[in-house]
Amino acid sequence: NPGATLSLRLIPYSESLWLLVARDVSRLLQLEQMRRDFVANVSHELRTPLTVVHGYLDMLDPTDHPEWAPMVAEMQRQSQRMTQLVEDLLMLSRLESQDSLPAEEQVSIAPMLGTLRREAMALSQGRHEVTVQDDAGVDLFGSNKELHSAFSNLVSNAVRYTPAGGTITVRFRREGRGVALEVVDSGYGIPASHLPRLTERFYRVSNSRSRESGGTGLGLAIVKHVLNLHQAHLEVSSEVGQGSTFACVFGPERVRQREPSEVPS
Ligand code: ADP
Repeated sequence: NPGATLSLRLIPYSESLWLLVARDVSRLLQLEQMRRDFVANVSHELRTPLTVVHGYLDMLDPTDHPEWAPMVAEMQRQSQRMTQLVEDLLMLSRLESQDSLPAEEQVSIAPMLGTLRREAMALSQGRHEVTVQDDAGVDLFGSNKELHSAFSNLVSNAVRYTPAGGTITVRFRREGRGVALEVVDSGYGIPASHLPRLTERFYRVSNSRSRESGGTGLGLAIVKHVLNLHQAHLEVSSEVGQGSTFACVFGPERVRQREPSEVPS
């Protein structure tokens, strides 16, 4: 099969012999590409009708029919959720089709932490104590937009999976010669058996709690892809009933000195 993509594996056979197993994975790769294209096309096609439905729903005013109010509110909530799902699917398709970041730039950490703090407080609506800590004194190098959506997903999870009265801390710290952005919560926690599968699309620890909390099930899949594109990785530690820590760990090649204007005097 000329032009085929082969997967090669070397397996120990006996003390002095090894087996080389070659498998033609061209068809598998082709099917995977078809799956990606299909998801991307469906999401794209759903976008316009959803925008129209969402727009008109927002204009509905049930003042003359108060009995309609709860139904209108529920329709608005569900259409908002569907819109978010489509946006997340499109983002994931875009990330999957990239081998590298389209544009890289200095990612200033101080304003990023400020934005994450405001987002956490808006979502929490005063139910949690939110703190940010800027301990590393350096910046990152990568894609501002993509990194913001990854960090933002972790912050939104921390708020959604932490009961009222809990704490949420976003910390940027040194990790070996690199750095890590860490989101720590004092929430429900995750049983160890679920940790290896958390970043799979639509994987959920507790279906009912996750659905009620309003997520799309794609947040951590997005985080994983964004980090991959930055040659970074996600480390998760958690204890049920105590809380969870999600750390995005970046190597030294992603560390940049802060612009002079941002260095505190
Ligand atoms: P979702 O939209 O369902 O939150 P995610 O991909 O962001 O999807 O997360 C996958 C699952 O991991 C969630 O459904 C939830 O069960 C679990 N999870 C994620 N973050 C946390 C957290 N901070 N605390 C407890 N569970 C979490």
